[in-house]
Amino acid sequence: MTTPTRVLNFSAGPAVLPLPVLEEIQRDLVALPGVGMSILEVSHRSKAFEDILAKTEADIRALANIPANYKVLFLQGGASTQFSMVPMNLLGAGQTADYIDCGSWADKAIKEAKKVGTVNVSGSSKADNYSHLPNSADLKFTPGAAYVHITNNNTIEGTEYKTLPDVGGAPIVNDTSSDMFSRPIDIAKHGLIYAGAQKNLGPAGVTLVIIREDMLARAAAVQKTLPTMLSYAVHAENTSMYNTPPTFSIYAVGLVVQWLQKNGGLPAMLAVNERKAGKLYAEIDRTGFYRGTAKKEDRSLMNVTFRLSTEDLEKKFVKESTAAGLDGLKGHRSVGGMRASIYNAFPESGIDTLVAFMQEFERKNG
Ligand SMILES: *Cc1c(COP(=O)(O)O)cnc(C)c1O
Repeated sequence: MTTPTRVLNFSAGPAVLPLPVLEEIQRDLVALPGVGMSILEVSHRSKAFEDILAKTEADIRALANIPANYKVLFLQGGASTQFSMVPMNLLGAGQTADYIDCGSWADKAIKEAKKVGTVNVSGSSKADNYSHLPNSADLKFTPGAAYVHITNNNTIEGTEYKTLPDVGGAPIVNDTSSDMFSRPIDIAKHGLIYAGAQKNLGPAGVTLVIIREDMLARAAAVQKTLPTMLSYAVHAENTSMYNTPPTFSIYAVGLVVQWLQKNGGLPAMLAVNERKAGKLYAEIDRTGFYRGTAKKEDRSLMNVTFRLSTEDLEKKFVKESTAAGLDGLKGHRSVGGMRASIYNAFPESGIDTLVAFMQEFERKNG
């Protein structure tokens, strides 16, 4: 079988996957070794799948150093369902949840939480089109808040928390959909972490949730009043097997995690990601032709957003880059401009190709 030529995929998600992972999926797709069935056919109640699930969880625990008092769950419905599950499970009557409004996804999370309970927006950069993170010194937290919700990486605007903000004593709930496992993560500083897989972890269809046991106890207290499928306690009690889990997606995430381990784990990933993003930002800053849209200190290593002097020139850039095999550089429809999503699996050589394209484009149009 010949592999068709692959373009450079700068999509924000679903996004590029490591080639060795795709090749392993391809090799084993018709029959998993020792099983004789495709991962697409295997029962979730089979020993074969139970082993895959257990190994995937164990590998994630090892990779991210997850303490024993945290549960690892594999859920469905994407990060968007977590926008509702978090307050439904963790925001009790009479309590307030604090949210940092640092990007378009945070804004969506806030809207969902407001349907469930009382929300305090601790700080916002919306007035500046989320071009920076809200200033830490200006954040106002509610004493005794149920939790503080943050978005670690703002996929659309291209900003990222490199260190967690000081939120007082409340548990942090972190949407890490677009930078999970791109750098070491201090799990113990969190009450709950969630990430849709399709950006940095694997294919679409599974959402990783890491929840501390005391948060789970809160979730258990409201379990009876919640729709069963929206209860963390139900999923935890059933080790993500209350109903049919997304078997293929979990298998693929498992392979991605093995690939991360083989490549040196999270510290090594951070070093590569810093180098990759560094090259791209250096090109953006080299002359005035390109303009980075995120404040320098807050720039994301995962989603690099930039603009050109006119929208016509931006259209031309997108058209010509696509034709040159650099796919998905058009920015999110809500903000325009360009966005290069350069997740873990995006090859460093692809950054060099983009930089060369940018230099040539500037030479012709500058
Ligand atoms: C993509 C994204 C979401 C939404 O994810 P879905 O899985 O499509 O629901 C939420 N938060 C962030 C930070 C994202 O990047």
